[in-house]
Amino acid sequence: MNSMYFTEEHEAFRKSFRDFLKKEVVPHINKWEKTGTIDRFIWKKFGEMGYFGLHSPEEYGGLNLDIFYTIIFLEELQKVNSGGFAAAMWAHVYLAMTHVNKEGNDHIKKKYLTPSIHGDKIGCLCITEPFGGSDVAGMRTTAIKKGDNYIINGSKTFITNGVYSDYLVVAAKTDTTSRNKGISIFIIDRETKGVSATKLDKLGWRASDTGEIAFDNVVIPEQNLMGEEGKGFSYIMSHFALERLVMGVNAHARAEFALEYAIQYISERQAFGKTLDKFQALRHKVADMASEVEMCKEFNYSIAKRLNEGQYIVKEASMSKLLSTKMADSVINGCLQLLGGYGYMEEYPMARLLRDSRLGQIGGGTSEILREIIAKMIIDKKEYKPAT
Ligand SMILES: Cc1cc2nc3c(=O)[nH]c(=O)nc-3n(C[C@H](O)[C@H](O)[C@H](O)COP(=O)(O)OP(=O)(O)OC[C@H]3O[C@@H](n4cnc5c(N)ncnc54)[C@H](O)[C@@H]3O)c2cc1C
Repeated sequence: MNSMYFTEEHEAFRKSFRDFLKKEVVPHINKWEKTGTIDRFIWKKFGEMGYFGLHSPEEYGGLNLDIFYTIIFLEELQKVNSGGFAAAMWAHVYLAMTHVNKEGNDHIKKKYLTPSIHGDKIGCLCITEPFGGSDVAGMRTTAIKKGDNYIINGSKTFITNGVYSDYLVVAAKTDTTSRNKGISIFIIDRETKGVSATKLDKLGWRASDTGEIAFDNVVIPEQNLMGEEGKGFSYIMSHFALERLVMGVNAHARAEFALEYAIQYISERQAFGKTLDKFQALRHKVADMASEVEMCKEFNYSIAKRLNEGQYIVKEASMSKLLSTKMADSVINGCLQLLGGYGYMEEYPMARLLRDSRLGQIGGGTSEILREIIAKMIIDKKEYKPAT
């Protein structure tokens, strides 16, 4: 336990969440990885246990706990070794619900946030489009005002929970002549006429559903606009700090999981008459990897603390995701090597870990885009300000 950040209450939560995952989730993971569909009952169980509301306001059913409960939630989710299952859960809470909580009015929060906390409704966040994800301001989906309604047309892709979610938080252009200042955020019920989704096949994150979504003359009431018209880009950028920290934390946690497994493995496996953990080449490799994991973890904890204190951590969250995801890919690859041929086998954890980890440097802002943001902040002295 790192007592600089975690109290005994935090650790008691970690233990109970870990036990819950072991009992309720782990037995189903292989099936969900095969089918690409997470059974609905587990969403409800998460809701009943309060896990979706750790960070949400009490008045809507949340627990309003400090961010280190979220850190534990994320870390333990990584350790069931299904990046897809973890993504389905954290994308619901920290992508979709974050927008509902921050930009939704009281009516929207009662209709979507409370059932999301209870596990009765699943959400997804739709920003990326087939024509491009990195250039968010270049999106082409439109939301044109007509009387008391908006008419949505366009498409989104690579959306986590994009097929099975009950509602969609959607970024669309309300002013097609503008770039970032023309974007607004809407909430759309899955059953609305004109919404359709296609499931995508992918390298990893296999338990999660990743969808391409089409909006064909979808009519929604103007009340489904979240926050102010034209402010969507600022909202998205504001929440990216949390999302990127989430992905940084996920990365250090899965690397730690891989390393713990590999250390155990080399302490049992024999070659040339001794266990592998007696070979200096491997010992030094483990020492390097452990140092990298620890450095990222400590950095991530320290910026989580700053976020919890209300600081705006755009640069640091970008750094967290940039380095932690790179470190995780490299550590998991190194751990796979420690297992030799078994590292390549599906019945051992490294194969899935390796392919799941690879998404870290792509989703939620690629490493190239993060370097752009960091360079702008440290070279051009650009400042990003919170939208809310
Ligand atoms: C499994 C999965 C789940 C996802 N979940 C979601 C989700 O829930 N919601 C959502 O909205 N999106 C989601 N995404 C989308 C993800 O955020 C995008 O894939 C990502 O932002 C990159 O966009 P792109 O794929 O269009 O790549 P592009 O923008 O086409 O980029 C292609 C390449 O060019 C590079 N590049 C682009 N611009 C620059 C530049 N200015 N300088 C240097 N290099 C550049 C990129 O770094 C990348 O290497 C998900 C993606 C995946 C694969």
